[in-house]
Amino acid sequence: MRAAIFSTHPYEVPFLDRANEEAGHDLTYLQTSLSESTAQLAEGFEGVALFVGDDASAEVLRTLHEGGTRVIALRSAGFNHVDIEEADRLDLTVLRVPAYSPHAVAEHALALMMVLNRKLHRAYNRTREQNFELSGLMGFDMNGKTAGIIGTGKIGEVLCRILRGFGCTVLGSDPEPNPVCEKMGVEYVELDELYARSDIISLHCPLTPQTHHLINAKALAAMRPGVMLINTSRGAVIDTRALIDALKKGTIGSVGLDVYEEEGDLFFHDLSDRVIHDDVFVRLITFPNVLITAHQAFLTREACTAIAETTIGNLSDFAADSVRPENTVTKRLIAPTA
Ligand code: NAD
Repeated sequence: MRAAIFSTHPYEVPFLDRANEEAGHDLTYLQTSLSESTAQLAEGFEGVALFVGDDASAEVLRTLHEGGTRVIALRSAGFNHVDIEEADRLDLTVLRVPAYSPHAVAEHALALMMVLNRKLHRAYNRTREQNFELSGLMGFDMNGKTAGIIGTGKIGEVLCRILRGFGCTVLGSDPEPNPVCEKMGVEYVELDELYARSDIISLHCPLTPQTHHLINAKALAAMRPGVMLINTSRGAVIDTRALIDALKKGTIGSVGLDVYEEEGDLFFHDLSDRVIHDDVFVRLITFPNVLITAHQAFLTREACTAIAETTIGNLSDFAADSVRPENTVTKRLIAPTA
């Protein structure tokens, strides 16, 4: 199949090439992201492969369809950047990578926690400047703390296991409690109770209409003073302006973000010699207790291998008229879950 790979990052080409060795699809790597102004580049390509920053809204999908595209292979688990209802109307098949390495993301969430807790980002800079002073670097024992996990699916489950290993009490919130988590001692509670009891809160739910701005001013006010908030799910689960207000008030202890609601214009690009026009983001990075990574939680060799293999497999399955239901994105997946 001829497939256009939008938003190709240099790191992923070797993984895609290796995965494609046997399948032999005709892949065209495009560095540009998909948008209304670039959708025409896909003309004549039966398949397109997209990443999280690509815009597959209704208008873009119509242009793809007119150009002959029949299958969209997402190189991600999340699919909030695709207008699924329009894809259904156009009979465009949308396939994703439902699971690649939940460990990659859960371990990155833990990395954010540990760096923020033990102030490693500050210690790293200090020692390079031969400043071996310890003031301002005080952390806390993870052992004995209470962690609240919102969304205990594949990634949340791995993080629950890691945190149980640290000796944390783990609270969960999920419309569909996970029996594996229950078995390891995770206590499912209502959100208000999770906010009130947790020293650390980590978000692992998908972005849906129900979870959009789930962490708003009211939720932030209900959290324990000094709470650590971690988001590796999707940026818009947090109302960033409300988060900034809470950070200014000093009620939030620290924040680790791998995602940001307006990340599309920023992340995955080198903007080091540009002026950033997003004042909300620029304010966010000024806080000493905020640590941001640019959507890299998935970035392990194991995860990239699995993403490439499943993406190429999805194209092959479509060509063979045998797509896997578990990889297919349908309206059912965006139906309200709570
Ligand atoms: P999953 O589908 O296995 O688990 C998601 C869980 O969230 C499910 O158990 C679901 O019931 C629960 N959920 C749904 N609505 C909820 C709500 N309102 N409140 C609480 N829980 C709710 O998904 P996963 O593989 O664990 O991935 C979780 C999310 O992580 C993805 O949707 C994606 O947005 C994000 N993700 C980020 C990266 C990254 O690199 N930062 C990589 C992969 C996935």
